[in-house]
Amino acid sequence: MKPREETALVLSGGGVYGAFEVGVMKALFAGASPVNGYQPLDVGIFSGTSVGAFNAACMAGFSQQNELDAALQLESIWLERIANRPDVCGSGAFRIRGTPSEFIDPNCLRQPVALAGRMARDGLVLGRYLLGRSLNFLASPAPPMDRVTSTVNIESLVDPLPFQDLVNHAFREEDVLNSTRNLRLVATNWSMGVAEYFKNSDFVNGEGYEIVRASAALPGVFPPVKIRANTYVDGGVTENTPLNSALSAGATELHVIYLNPKPQFLPLKGQPDTLDTMLRVFYLLLAGRIEQDVANLRQINQGLQALAKFQEGGNVPANAALSFARIAAKALGSSHQFVTVHRYYPRGVLAGEFGMLDSQLQTIVNVMEAGESIALTHDCEESGCLLAE
Ligand SMILES: [Zn+2]
Repeated sequence: MKPREETALVLSGGGVYGAFEVGVMKALFAGASPVNGYQPLDVGIFSGTSVGAFNAACMAGFSQQNELDAALQLESIWLERIANRPDVCGSGAFRIRGTPSEFIDPNCLRQPVALAGRMARDGLVLGRYLLGRSLNFLASPAPPMDRVTSTVNIESLVDPLPFQDLVNHAFREEDVLNSTRNLRLVATNWSMGVAEYFKNSDFVNGEGYEIVRASAALPGVFPPVKIRANTYVDGGVTENTPLNSALSAGATELHVIYLNPKPQFLPLKGQPDTLDTMLRVFYLLLAGRIEQDVANLRQINQGLQALAKFQEGGNVPANAALSFARIAAKALGSSHQFVTVHRYYPRGVLAGEFGMLDSQLQTIVNVMEAGESIALTHDCEESGCLLAE
C-alpha cells in the first residue's frame, strides 16, 4: 500500500447525492472493497467541491479517529442532521423556498408563526424566471466574468440558514486546522470567474465555515458567500471534480467519487423547467472537463511508460516521450509522475422525489447504500479506472 500522503479522496458536488460519497467511504475505510485488496484504505488528502467540500471538511475535522469511525460519524450527521426528521419542519440542510410539502407537513403546521415568516420571505424570490436565469448562467458560452455580473442580483432558491447552521455545527474549525489529513477545497471567485483552492491553514477565525458554504453556493440556488474582500460561489462552476487540487497536494493515487452516472448513461429528457433538471444540466456541463483531466493523466502515464521502455532498450525517442508527459502534466498543473485514478460512479441516476435537493430520510439511506454497493463491487475495467502499472 502506498504511503497515505500520496492517496487522495476526491469528492464532487451534487446536493443530497453527497450521501453517495459517505457510502463509498464506509466501504473503502472498512477494507471491504476489492480496490485496495480488501484492506482499509489510508487517505492523506481529502479534496472536495460543493457538498463534497462539506464531506471532506468533516473527514479532515474528525481525524482524531480512524477513518472508518470518521466516516461513521459523518454518516450519522447525514441521517440525523441533514435528513428530514419526523419531528422537525423541513430539512436540516436543503430547504427549497416555498416547498408545497411544507403546507401539508403536520410538523410545520405546528409552527404557524415560523411558517408564516418563511412564506413572506419566500414570496420575494419565487418564480420561474429565476430558474430560467440560472440555467442561462450555467449554459452560457460567455466568459465567467460576463456570466457572473449578469446574475449578480438574483436571490437564492434555497434558504441558506439551515445549511449555514449545519456547517457551523458539523465539525470544529480548529480540528481541521490541526488535522493529520490534508484538506483541499475549491470555490469559485465570483468576480474573477476562477477556481480558488483552500486548505487546512485557511480554517481560522470562522473562515473555514464560510469556505465550505462558499464551495457549495451554487449560483441561483444558494446566495454567494463573502470571505474577506472577495465573494465566492460553488466550486463546481469552475471545477466540480477537484482533481487538480488533489494533484497539486502531491497525490498519485486518486479515488474520485462522482455523483452522476457516466454521461453516456444519463438520460436527459424533458424541459429544463425543474430545479433538479437545472442542476443536472449544470453537472453535465462539467463532465466534459473532468473527462479531459483524466485523459491528461492518461497521457502522463503513457509518456512515462514510453520513456521506461526506451530506457530498457526500446525504440521510442526518450525526449519525445518525456515531453509528451510534461505537456500533459502542465495542462493539469501537476508533476509528471505515474498517477492511478479509481473512479466510483452511480450505476444509474440517483433519484428521490425532489432530485438533488430531496433530503427525505429514505432517499438519503438509498443513496448511501448505492455508494456502499459501488465500492463493495468496484471493477476497474467497468469504471474506466486509470491504472499506473
Ligand atoms: Zn479502480
